[in-house]
Amino acid sequence: TSTRSINFSAGPSALPPSVLAEATAGLLDFAGTGIGIAEISHRSKEFMAFLDETEALIREQLQVPSTHRVLFAQGGGTGQFAAVVLNLLARDVLVRPTLAEGEERVLDYVLTGSWSKAALKEAQQLTAALPGVRLNTVVDAKALSPNNAYDRTPPHSAYNFSADPALIFYCENETVNGVQFSKASESDPSPDAADIDETGFPFHLLPKGKLLPLVADYSSSFMSRPIPRLADHAVIYAGAQKNIAPAGLTILIVREDCLVDTAAAALLGAPPVPSVLSYKYLADGKSVPNTPPVFSIYVAGLVLRRMKALGGLEAFEAVNRRKKEGVYRAIREGEERGVFRGKVGEGEGGSWMNVVWEVVGDGAEERFLKGAGERGMKSLKGHRSVGGIRASLYNAVEEEEVAKLVEYMREFVEAET
Ligand code: PMP
Repeated sequence: TSTRSINFSAGPSALPPSVLAEATAGLLDFAGTGIGIAEISHRSKEFMAFLDETEALIREQLQVPSTHRVLFAQGGGTGQFAAVVLNLLARDVLVRPTLAEGEERVLDYVLTGSWSKAALKEAQQLTAALPGVRLNTVVDAKALSPNNAYDRTPPHSAYNFSADPALIFYCENETVNGVQFSKASESDPSPDAADIDETGFPFHLLPKGKLLPLVADYSSSFMSRPIPRLADHAVIYAGAQKNIAPAGLTILIVREDCLVDTAAAALLGAPPVPSVLSYKYLADGKSVPNTPPVFSIYVAGLVLRRMKALGGLEAFEAVNRRKKEGVYRAIREGEERGVFRGKVGEGEGGSWMNVVWEVVGDGAEERFLKGAGERGMKSLKGHRSVGGIRASLYNAVEEEEVAKLVEYMREFVEAET
């Protein structure tokens, strides 16, 4: 492993070397069967036992209540942009088959960055021709930013939820923009801190009195820290390729009332739902109604076992907090010297997982990236749509590795001033 770079990639991302070694052995012989994990039937008792264990490791560490199912799917976050709309519209149609005069089915979207915008766009495309369906932008954080950018979570006073929506969507961590719903940081309290509750997301403003159709995209923060108010969610989903596994696996946590008969709903006028996107189809088939991404599930299970052995989610939360605090501190130091410019304040929704900043001055960004490369640190270039630097600090990026980045950031600031 000495030839391995320190990988700050936003996804697919670093995986623990010990798990990669285990997975290598499993490719040749899975669970003593003499058959490799990529070659064994997904219905074999050995794989089914592994799948059950993987589910249990998620349930235990996230404290998933018995009201919610854990499901394994394919199609990534993008597949879920469509699946959440189709399944929750079907649910709404089954609950309210006919609309009274002037009644609508409203889909609420909270916009905090490019992934929530992409989710909205998919919803627009899927519902454009449907009568009685309307999309509502609950809040658009960009419109509230003095920089006209997705660079903070919105103040709670700016949210405009619908009274009785069929779906409420938010992206918990915006991977590209580096914006996450977090409580204000003690090391850098935001001016808005009084307005941001324990979680940063305004759960207290949501419509009350019924099961919430609340959907959260956790693609880039799943298993990095506990999920606040998990039980209040209808659907939580995450592409596994950041914190958990290779690409190809999508992990879902779906409340039982969202496992609806999509074929029956289609007969009542809801959009038809392909089986692979139907939550009920997945749940009835125990996540293996068709061939699942066996190898990705295998690595996910190994990663989750390792997590548990290292102290579980709370231990990872503590390490992840220290990691991001170190990087934000180094950004602030560089800001004071005019070398860095933070893009998202640590206490204003600055992501724990994807920290973004700019290196100020002609050619300075290239110098920064070159120096990082020479020290074995890779994939620090920001997303092409926003530029600058992005350091993704997922679970498999070790604290010592982040310390090396911080040390290099300080050296760089010294060299530039
Ligand atoms: N949502 C978020 C928050 C993401 O980070 C990504 C991918 N980076 C997606 C959705 C899209 O996921 P996928 O590429 O798995 O379709």
